[in-house]
Amino acid sequence: MTVARTFLELDDSYAREVPGLSMPWTAAPVPEPTLLVLNEELAAELGVDPAALREPAGVALLVGHGLPDGVRPVAQAYAGHQFGGYVPRLGDGRALLLGEVIDVEGRRRDVHLKGSGRTPFARGGDGKAAVGPMLREYLIGEAMHGLGIPTTRALSVVATGERVLRETALPGAVLCRIAASHLRVGTFQYAAATGDRDLLRALADHAVARHYPDAADAANRYLELYRRVVEAQARLVARWMLVGFVHGVMNTDNTTISGETIDYGPCAFMDAFDPATVFSSIDHGGRYAYGNQPGIAQWNLARLGETLLPLIDENTDGAVEAATAVLGEFADVYARSWDEGMAAKLGLPAPAPELVTDLLELLRAQRVDFTNFFRSLSAGTARTLFGEPEPFDAWAARRDVLLPADRAGVAAAMDRVNPAYIPRNHLVEEALTAATAGDLAPFERLLDVVLSPFTERPGLQEYAQPAPSGGAPHVTYCGT
Ligand code: AMP
Ligand code: MG
Repeated sequence: MTVARTFLELDDSYAREVPGLSMPWTAAPVPEPTLLVLNEELAAELGVDPAALREPAGVALLVGHGLPDGVRPVAQAYAGHQFGGYVPRLGDGRALLLGEVIDVEGRRRDVHLKGSGRTPFARGGDGKAAVGPMLREYLIGEAMHGLGIPTTRALSVVATGERVLRETALPGAVLCRIAASHLRVGTFQYAAATGDRDLLRALADHAVARHYPDAADAANRYLELYRRVVEAQARLVARWMLVGFVHGVMNTDNTTISGETIDYGPCAFMDAFDPATVFSSIDHGGRYAYGNQPGIAQWNLARLGETLLPLIDENTDGAVEAATAVLGEFADVYARSWDEGMAAKLGLPAPAPELVTDLLELLRAQRVDFTNFFRSLSAGTARTLFGEPEPFDAWAARRDVLLPADRAGVAAAMDRVNPAYIPRNHLVEEALTAATAGDLAPFERLLDVVLSPFTERPGLQEYAQPAPSGGAPHVTYCGT
């Protein structure tokens, strides 16, 4: 049986071009690898035969074993601000970059393992991951993909046959993650802290070549790199906000240079609209609450800008001035993405920021389900979601005069941007609990639902309902 061909052609441009930011390392032994879920569509995108990945040799590859000669996995170094505090050495404590594949569209993509054992960056950790959190990452990443939001995606989750010790002993797993790259703001922080300007430049050149190749032609390519990342992150976070997504751990090591969403830990989609929504049990101050996300993204990007200063201009004052101006563009790009996105959600031909502000205040005051509001607005049933409908009626009358005449066309367009199904947190928890106990059926059903979020299907009403508790945020403890 031919083992997945593309996996035989793993490249290592990162390790080659940016030496000093990764360490060769091998995956821990896996006593009893069992494939729990395989992303066949993604495998095909990578040019890999899904059937081959299901063979024992394929499953071995998905946990980092039986790699072809010459493939040298690495643990990547990075630093990061975690909840605002700087940690100079984080890195892949339980993860490995197997290498890069060129997908069927010619794009270079990282093949990365999570839960593959301790590395020199493990600090106190055991290097392992549990089935529940790895399936969560798989599921939420696919939901984001279904929504059209840039994201890393899981190729597979393989159970290891080991128990990992968390609050209790849990079944272990290894996730295989595909990403445009694993370059993070924290990677730049780590490189900058070495004081080695050549290393920092090599990293920045690698990032430009990989993600923003035309930035190489700009008068100041490093300033242009910064601008591109600022724009990509501003657009990304606007997309999160438009679907009610709360990332939960927006540390600088979880902020990508590519503009993809990465690291699905204690994240969730909110039910009732409330900017103060937090899901992470460790986020005591609400630093990463829904409503704080744009500000935090900009703060993280300021940290990126600091690392790039010596490349932007030899003259520090000049560099600070130029970088500050670029960071200032965040607010405009974010506002534009949000305003246009909201106009589309409301079926309006042009942004109406005041109408949006007033709507959000109404939703918050009456704890209306964010997702269902927009979906029922196109169906003409939104009024029923309000305990006290009069303020909504007044708001709806203001919207009405802005709508184009073709109401059916408006409704259809709205249904293409307003999901009927998001991964409701109570259903995610239920699915992960069942999977941890050995029953994957609820997970598979939920995955199928969220992969086509805009298409309403009969029999799926329960997937469109907020938590029976009335939407009190469901706190996630099993982030890792
Ligand atoms: P995260 O919160 O998942 O973004 O991870 C933050 C840092 O902690 C990264 O450097 C991870 O590699 C590391 N880490 C998280 N869990 C573990 C673990 N079980 N063993 C070793 N390192 C870990
Ligand atoms: Mg992380």
